[in-house]
Amino acid sequence: MKIDVVIVGGGPAGLSAALILGRCHRQVLLCDDEQPRNRASHAIHGLLGREGRSPSAFLGEARQELTRYKSVSIRWTRVNDITPADEGFEFTCADGTTGIASKVLLATGIVDELPEIAGVEALYGVSVHHCLYCDGFEYAGKPVAAFGKGDEGADLAVMMKHWMADVVACSDGTEISADAARKLKQHGIPLRNEPIASVEGAEGVLTKIRFKSGPDLDRAALFFSTGCHQASDLSELLGCKRDRKGGVVTDSATEETSVPGVYVAGDVSRDVLLVAAAIAEGAKAAVAINKAFLLRDGFCE
Ligand SMILES: Cc1cc2nc3c(=O)[nH]c(=O)nc-3n(C[C@H](O)[C@H](O)[C@H](O)COP(=O)(O)OP(=O)(O)OC[C@H]3O[C@@H](n4cnc5c(N)ncnc54)[C@H](O)[C@@H]3O)c2cc1C
Repeated sequence: MKIDVVIVGGGPAGLSAALILGRCHRQVLLCDDEQPRNRASHAIHGLLGREGRSPSAFLGEARQELTRYKSVSIRWTRVNDITPADEGFEFTCADGTTGIASKVLLATGIVDELPEIAGVEALYGVSVHHCLYCDGFEYAGKPVAAFGKGDEGADLAVMMKHWMADVVACSDGTEISADAARKLKQHGIPLRNEPIASVEGAEGVLTKIRFKSGPDLDRAALFFSTGCHQASDLSELLGCKRDRKGGVVTDSATEETSVPGVYVAGDVSRDVLLVAAAIAEGAKAAVAINKAFLLRDGFCE
């Protein structure tokens, strides 16, 4: 198979790029192994025109829109390997699909590292969150907790005070610095530094945090600050430069990486980690890729 572009990842970034490239009559293969970052969530917030839509409904609609473009194909498989080849890049997928693409777009996303607390997974995405821009608004006036080891939880708690009045910082058995303690005091935020035993709730809704010692803490939500990592090592395999946080470095105008012909869009660059930004970056990368083809073929200068 010889195509114009292989898009790795079918979240908002990859689908957005496929839409624009389809409208440019480019031969595109989009491969996705169906592990979108926000699959634990029930509602996308902050997305103009689609506020509150469930992630699965949103992806379903976007995939449906692509069926109009016959030059775009989708395969539900993982891309395991991409290597530079004479006329572009050779790719290999887990289902045995192989081919050569002139350009590569990595829209592979990231994976969040959940706090290691018993009971967190059942609540994640509904009342345990990592992003204030996504979910902070819903908790104004409700009692919430900020989780993070050392100063990270304290810093998060201070930021949360802008969104919610009743915030408790939980450092899970770790100490915080004198500076962080001063900031907590300044903002009227209590600190619980005992190790956490578990979080409890029903149907995804947090009710309380249990500590290994000391009283339980009744809370409606917990926000955490832990970390995240790339969902795919393809950018590393291809030799794309990464920044200090592990995000793939891109040209801000084109989304092209340090490897010519390889572009990224969405959370991979670890810039603004929102669906709206992923859609925009996918469109930006697609336009830059199409422009590169137009230049190559003498349709523009
Ligand atoms: C719990 C939660 C709630 C969130 N809520 C919101 C919200 O309310 N509003 C908001 O704007 N943002 C929200 N976000 C952030 C949002 O999910 C991301 O910003 C967005 O999904 C990024 O889109 P993406 O296309 O870059 O990556 P993703 O949506 O993660 O899609 C990447 C896709 O690539 C696939 N993939 C990875 N590697 C390979 C490979 N090698 N081969 C094939 N496929 C591969 C994955 O399976 C996945 O389907 C939330 C995130 C989480 C975790």
